[in-house]
Amino acid sequence: MWIGSSKQKNIKILEFSVTKDPIKILGTYLSHNPDKSINANFYIKIRKMSTKLNLWRARELTLYGKSLLAKTLGASQLIYTASMICVPDTVINNVQGHLFSFLWNNRKDKIKRKVMYQPLSEGGINFINFRTMVKSLRLAWIQRLLTNSYDAWKAIPNYFFNKYGGLAFLLKCNFDSAKLDKNLPLFYRELLDYFQELTNNSQYITNDLILWNNKNITVDKKSLFWKSWFDRGIYFIGDLLNSAGKFLTLDEFQKKFDFKVSYLNYFQLIAAIPQELKRKALVSPTPDLFSIPLEFQQLNDRTLLLPKMRCKHYYNMFIEKNNTEPTAIKSWKKLFPYFTDWKRSFKEIYESSRDNKLRQFSFKVLHRIIPTRKELKKYKLVTDDICSLCPYPDSIEHTFLHCTETVNFYMKTLSWFNNYHNTRIHLPHEHIVLNTFKDVFPPKLSNPLKRRLCLLILFQTKYLYTCKNLSKRPDLEEFLSKLHQQYRIENCGL
Ligand SMILES: [Zn+2]
Repeated sequence: MWIGSSKQKNIKILEFSVTKDPIKILGTYLSHNPDKSINANFYIKIRKMSTKLNLWRARELTLYGKSLLAKTLGASQLIYTASMICVPDTVINNVQGHLFSFLWNNRKDKIKRKVMYQPLSEGGINFINFRTMVKSLRLAWIQRLLTNSYDAWKAIPNYFFNKYGGLAFLLKCNFDSAKLDKNLPLFYRELLDYFQELTNNSQYITNDLILWNNKNITVDKKSLFWKSWFDRGIYFIGDLLNSAGKFLTLDEFQKKFDFKVSYLNYFQLIAAIPQELKRKALVSPTPDLFSIPLEFQQLNDRTLLLPKMRCKHYYNMFIEKNNTEPTAIKSWKKLFPYFTDWKRSFKEIYESSRDNKLRQFSFKVLHRIIPTRKELKKYKLVTDDICSLCPYPDSIEHTFLHCTETVNFYMKTLSWFNNYHNTRIHLPHEHIVLNTFKDVFPPKLSNPLKRRLCLLILFQTKYLYTCKNLSKRPDLEEFLSKLHQQYRIENCGL
């Protein structure tokens, strides 16, 4: 394949064949024709991924199982290529669409995507966010580029980044990738874009008093980098100020740095420095360039050093940054205004049971996506919304809080538990439905009893819901025999 200015040529050299089709190098296709290479690199793989996922559709998998498959059978096929070349938006949307339609069985999403990407304790299921994965894979190059090895492949990125003083310097600057010169290849420009997105409002300290690559110090809307000045050790606004807080005259400047510069350049630079940055430079001491760290300060007092950050660090930071409260929590808060620690409610699911089907049920209740007759009527699947066990209108609240059958059953199971274990526990119903039951556990309750009670609470909500769907009155004996079976499965026996 001919490259550069000869890319249209068909001339043959010796016996080498010439092609204009994508050629495969180390598992990735390269071509001058973007459509052909995108098809070979991504769409063919997406089709394969879709077929593989389809094979699993018939099985009754939980959201957790499907999430795992989306990661292992789905996105993993694309990750290798996505770490090496730019991934167009259309491909990202296509992949994410396929994965979510697999998760929700080709139906509309029931929970916001942003929430599903979050960890379990934040109301999500760690569902793979392909867009964030692409960004994180790109940012993982920073670590490779910053290590002090002299690998041949670095010649190309270094050539480009050296136009801004090198990557290690650029990442200390208050840059805006849109204001850097246009000749940076898209792959690296995106890397800087993603980095900028991550550092926006985060605990990453860039130094806005550095003159170069500074988005606030521009000429013709472009930030500046003058290599010969940089090589002379001129880095900060403070380098241009005298002890009285005034800009050095051209003479003073030339003497200080023993460096001849043109009058025009010098005054162009001074004129580009905004007043407030000059004021800031006056009151802040000029640091030593090499002492400015390349690190993220995290909330838990941890520091992440850029030269050590891997893909997963960036991925988690992006997900944390986009943390969202699930929609259902707003509805629960309307009913229970004092309910604030909803993250604990989700966490409780996973601490109370190891059974993914039970976990999924509890997860769906908290997200309010369990259909009751109210929802069935709304979607015109039934003609009335009356509870199958009492004469009142059905809803999530009715099913788990107000229905007399439910309330009676809560009392029966709890009094069974108290009698059986010789305890005196009282459980307000909202603690049952919001998974905040541990709040009212007596402090002396032993751990095995805690586990048994937690599992009982989770298990009974599922049992009640099943009974209601079958229009069958809940029965304590039947329930207890099922519960004991569950205790055995989950190793909760005494
Ligand atoms: Zn009812």
